[in-house]
Amino acid sequence: MDAFAFARANRPRFLGELEEFLRIPSVSTQPEHQPDMLDAANWLRDQLLAVGFPRAEILPTAGHPIVFAEWSCRRPAAPTVLLYGHYDVQPADPLELWRTPPFEPVVVGDDLYARGASDDKGQLLAQIKAVESLSATAGEPPVSIRCLFEGEEESGSEHLDDFVTANRSILQADVALISDSSILSKDQPSIIYAVRGITYVEVEVTGPAGDLHSGRYGGAVHNPIHALAEMIAGLHDSQGRITIPGFYDRVQVLTPAERAGLARLPFDRHAWLREAGITTDWGEPEYSIVERTTARPTLDVNGIWGGYTQPGAKTVLPSKAFAKISMRLVPQQDPAEISRLIQDHFQAIAPPAVTVQVRELHHGQGAIVPLDSPAIQAAARAYAESFGAEPLFVREGGSLPVVATLRRELGIDSILMGFGLPDDNLHAPNEKLHLPNYFRGIDTVIRFLSYLA
Ligand SMILES: [Zn+2]
Repeated sequence: MDAFAFARANRPRFLGELEEFLRIPSVSTQPEHQPDMLDAANWLRDQLLAVGFPRAEILPTAGHPIVFAEWSCRRPAAPTVLLYGHYDVQPADPLELWRTPPFEPVVVGDDLYARGASDDKGQLLAQIKAVESLSATAGEPPVSIRCLFEGEEESGSEHLDDFVTANRSILQADVALISDSSILSKDQPSIIYAVRGITYVEVEVTGPAGDLHSGRYGGAVHNPIHALAEMIAGLHDSQGRITIPGFYDRVQVLTPAERAGLARLPFDRHAWLREAGITTDWGEPEYSIVERTTARPTLDVNGIWGGYTQPGAKTVLPSKAFAKISMRLVPQQDPAEISRLIQDHFQAIAPPAVTVQVRELHHGQGAIVPLDSPAIQAAARAYAESFGAEPLFVREGGSLPVVATLRRELGIDSILMGFGLPDDNLHAPNEKLHLPNYFRGIDTVIRFLSYLA
């Protein structure tokens, strides 16, 4: 029997084990679920040992523990693959909107409903079941495997960086396989090959030393809210380009081949406008909406406040004004450098009557994996053969900090091999996993590990 036949023959058990895992309400952000977090970590460690990992243990962090496992392949020159996933889940609230209880998994048709079914217990277990299918039929996995399964992804991965830094030696690998994302549709697999970085700052503008009466000082004192509004209004030109000097210096020009690839992605502008609740799009006219939202850097004001905002009227000329600003960055941009550029820019454009302070709240590096890298090619072949359709290559507009962490600390690329679907209701009531994707996911990982070997 080969690995695929083994996986097929064991489908009922693979489903039953996933249901067991899903019954543990491992909500990382809620302190009352602390015992459940430990239950989930224990369950996962036991699962890894049962599958045959010679070493599987729960390693502490300052927060929820990491489940680590290791299986070295005896074949010389076999590469090492680091599997990443997370065993924690989002809170189930609002409970009244669930059609079935979130921690009592139910299969309806082809879908398995439960909190964490898609994000990320189903995807994580698909990785493990692939390793099991390979080793059960060949005696050992075709590559050396290390597992890094965290319990804080849904609450900000606060202790992951420190853990990876402190445990570089046991995590050393040639490539990481991350299964915690979605494909375009059930019959159209896709591979995310780039994620954007981020720089997040808070701006504080100070005018007069204290709040003033607008009837006595208005007209002669530069209102800091006006000053902030003027500065923010100047951060984009009329074409939606960001005006901060040096902002685009490291941004790589998209090649014609890449633009052609992005143009092939299914995209319905009208559906997109409807979904966003807007009548027309905005931004750099020379780039498509797909490019603007995934392959170009952006700047957005996330919040702005100051002065009097309570009910009724108060004629105040405020002392201060604030804004929060995030910038999504393409992989080549350095988030720390962008942080300095925006700080310098605000100083340069600040009107004389106000002072401006810009504080960075956080930043994270983006990442890109070359499309011609052997691991991406292996992933593409694995998807094509398991789903019967060539995968499309997409860029993620958001950030995935673990990708940058693994690049920085271990020097490795991450292959984002997801099996979720866009309508899985992640972080929402009635989360589900499309079961054919679970089983195709197992086949895809089997093929990916075999091709890498
Ligand atoms: Zn996730």
